Amino acid sequence: MSKKWNFKDIVKWGPGRHEPGATIPESGTAEDYETGGWRTERPVLDREKCNDCMICFFACPDSSIRVENGKLAGIDLRHCKGCGICAQVCPRDAMEMKSETRARKEEEEKT
Ligand code: SF4
Ligand code: SF4
Repeated sequence: MSKKWNFKDIVKWGPGRHEPGATIPESGTAEDYETGGWRTERPVLDREKCNDCMICFFACPDSSIRVENGKLAGIDLRHCKGCGICAQVCPRDAMEMKSETRARKEEEEKT
């Protein structure tokens, strides 16, 4: 029997209200829980090298490879934890892991 949780005020919880270890208050909450803030590096796609083989899509543990019409459409940075698996498995070296600082700086320079 699952316990019904009310975690709307979770940011105000002190240590006394948290269960030891991880708490998953109910099923289907992974989408709401943005794990992108854990990241120190992010994958950056080189569209010229990518042939949409989707190996990275199957390997990503966070379902953060976005696909549209059978093509790689980008990275869901709200959930990507920056583990680097996509860059490791890519047979075409189309994913490069960059530090968050460097990636953000490069983004700013483009705008
Ligand atoms: S770095 Fe890890 S979490 Fe992020 S897209 Fe690549 S495999 Fe997924
Ligand atoms: S594994 Fe590499 S080539 Fe294949 S879809 Fe991913 S980024 Fe593109």
